[in-house]
Amino acid sequence: MAHRGGRHFLQIPGPTNVPDRILRAMDRPTIDHRGPEFQKLGREVLDGIKPVFGTTQPVVIYPASGTGAWEAAIVNTLSPGDKVLMFETGHFATLWRGLAQRFGIETEFVPGDWRHGVDAGVVEAKLREDTGHAIKAVMVVHNETSTGVTTRVPLVRQAIDRAGHPALLLVDTISSLGSIDYRHDEWGVDVTVAGSQKGLMLPPGLSFNAVSEKAMAASRNNRMPRSYWDWQDMAKPNQNGFFPYTPATNLLYGLREAVAMLMEEGMANVFARHDRHAEATRRAVRAWGLEILCAEPAEYSSALTAVMVPDGHDADELRRVILDRFDMSLGAGLAKLAGKVFRIGHLGDFNDLSLAGTLAGVEMGLSVAGIPHRSGGLDAAMRFLEGNGGEAKKAA
Ligand code: PLP
Repeated sequence: MAHRGGRHFLQIPGPTNVPDRILRAMDRPTIDHRGPEFQKLGREVLDGIKPVFGTTQPVVIYPASGTGAWEAAIVNTLSPGDKVLMFETGHFATLWRGLAQRFGIETEFVPGDWRHGVDAGVVEAKLREDTGHAIKAVMVVHNETSTGVTTRVPLVRQAIDRAGHPALLLVDTISSLGSIDYRHDEWGVDVTVAGSQKGLMLPPGLSFNAVSEKAMAASRNNRMPRSYWDWQDMAKPNQNGFFPYTPATNLLYGLREAVAMLMEEGMANVFARHDRHAEATRRAVRAWGLEILCAEPAEYSSALTAVMVPDGHDADELRRVILDRFDMSLGAGLAKLAGKVFRIGHLGDFNDLSLAGTLAGVEMGLSVAGIPHRSGGLDAAMRFLEGNGGEAKKAA
């Protein structure tokens, strides 16, 4: 498209806007990945990323999209024929289940309405029923990017513990890490799956497994064939800052900068910033008279908000108008939500005025596309932001 002035607003829920600081940090020569300069970088990123996961345990970094790290979590811990417990929270939970099935995993998939997170009561009941401990893992998506609904991971952990069940807990944080409060160690998660292109503010191309001791032990005994994803192959070279194959060196420069930026701001402040922008967005949506897809306030996502368009109207047409007129990309409704919702990403490198611009674009788009709504959404968000975001700020 011909240049039209100003910046494109990339307000899909990932990939997110890459800050200039990170672009500059990556704009460097690619170096010898077996040499001393790389070793320093490798050590810095392998150690530096740990606090972002809330862990002191190993974090494996793959040159791959998030789907690769999904696969890695499965092939390192499970064996063909193993049973796992999963929940239909939305499109990404459904995709992860499909991936597991291709590896011969038997997936018990608890149906859901795509408006709620995982019900910890069901986790406990299913695990209590499983007296023979056939279920080897509970696999949940922390932030369902397709719906804007989070699952309260500590409640899932507590449910597993109350049932006294030895299943591993595998959690997808691809669209929550670095945006929504998350604690791998404190919450007793065994494998945390993450990606570079959302809260970490990097381009796509890196993904991660944070690995508990229990998961590492499972990887020494499980029977799933694997090669590229093998944690054991990573562990030894990683100890010295190296990788078993050619790493994505320039993305690692970017990762070092992203971690520095998150640490400068402080993780608690990063989470509070996202909570505040999410609350401002919801106030705008309510003022427009539109409905938020997430049905449970305790499960609202601070990374994105999925908004339902009234029956008889097409969310994709609204997105098309907004892209065409205001040069902003919003997230589409996925799978069974196609055309029914649009998703506002408010994560990553984002501040009050980026949110105000985003909401202005949505509000103008609603008018241009002829979607029935009330004006005043942007105004409601501004009133909240200028008051400095009361509630959400205090929560920090
Ligand atoms: N899981 C979640 C929650 C996601 O949002 C995504 C992508 O958006 C994925 C998994 C898949 O990751 P990727 O597209 O990087 O392979």
